Amino acid sequence: MVSIVRPTYSMIFYLSSFDTTVQILGNEVYLSLLLAGGENLCKRTHDNKSILDRFPYLQFYSMLWNAKKMKNHRSPKWFFLIIFTALVSVYRQVGVEAFAAAKKRSGKPKKKASSTTKGFGAPPLSLEQVLAKFPTRIPKLPTDDDIATLECPCGKPNASYGDCCGPLHNKIRPCLTMEDVLRSRYAAFCWRKVEYIMDTTHETCRDWRGDKIAWAKDLNKQGMFDSFDFVGLEILGGEDFVDDNDGYLEFQVTMRGKDGGTSSAAVAGKETVVKERSRFLRDPDTKAWTYASGDVRSEVAGLQDTQLNM
Ligand SMILES: [Zn+2]
Repeated sequence: MVSIVRPTYSMIFYLSSFDTTVQILGNEVYLSLLLAGGENLCKRTHDNKSILDRFPYLQFYSMLWNAKKMKNHRSPKWFFLIIFTALVSVYRQVGVEAFAAAKKRSGKPKKKASSTTKGFGAPPLSLEQVLAKFPTRIPKLPTDDDIATLECPCGKPNASYGDCCGPLHNKIRPCLTMEDVLRSRYAAFCWRKVEYIMDTTHETCRDWRGDKIAWAKDLNKQGMFDSFDFVGLEILGGEDFVDDNDGYLEFQVTMRGKDGGTSSAAVAGKETVVKERSRFLRDPDTKAWTYASGDVRSEVAGLQDTQLNM
C-alpha cells in the first residue's frame, strides 16, 4: 500500500513544485493531492491557505475530505483516480490552449452583433439617426455659408437666411418674439426641418408628444405639406398680447397644390390661401416663445382638416 502511495506523492511534489504547472493542471490535481492525503505536502510546497483561496472548489472538497476521513484512501483506486484526474486536467488544459491559439491565428475577430442596425436584437435608432433618414427641401449648395446667403424662405424683405431664420434653426438664438416663431416655423416647413417643428411646439399643444421619434416619423409621413409648394407667408396685424408670456398672431399662408403630388384634384396646380390665428406661449425663464395652438379658418378643399401649426 505504501509503495503505491509514495510514487503518487513524488509525482504531486514534482507537479506542485512548479507553480505554472500547477496552475495549468488546475483543480483536479489539487483534488487528487488532497484525496491522496497530501495536505501536509501541499503545505510544504505552497502556502496551503493561498492555494485554497486560489482554487475555491478545493475548499469544498477539502471540507468533504476532512469530514469523511475515509480510511481506505491509500488504496490503489486512489492512485488510479489521481492519474486519471491529472490526465483529464492536462488534456483539457492543452485542448483549451490549443483552441485559443487556433482562434487567435484565424485572424479577424467576428463582427459584433451590436455593430449592425438591422435584424433582431439591433439597438433602436436614435432621434438623430431617424431624422437623418428623412428627405429635406434644403437647397443643395456646397456649404452652410452658401445657404446662409440665400433669401430667407420665410419671405422677410431684404433678409438672408443667415440673418433671419438660420440662427433660430441652428439654435444660435431662441425665438424672442411671436413673429420669430411664426417665420422660422414657416421656413422650417418650407425646408422640411422636422426637428425644428418639434422643438418649437409647446407642451400644451395638441400635437406635442413625449415620444419624439414617433412624433418625428408622423411629421415626416404626413405633416410636412408635401403635396404643396409654399408660395408665401403674410402676417396680418401685430402681436396680440394676453400677458408677457401669452399672445396671438394672425397670418395667412399661400400654398399651391402640386400637380403630380398626392393633393386632391381640387387643389392641384391651384393657389390656396389659409388663414390662422395662432397662440404662442413664452417660457418665463428662457424667454423663448413656442407655438401652442391654432385657430384655422379655411374652406379650401384638402385643407379643411389641416391645422397649419405655423
Ligand atoms: Zn426668415
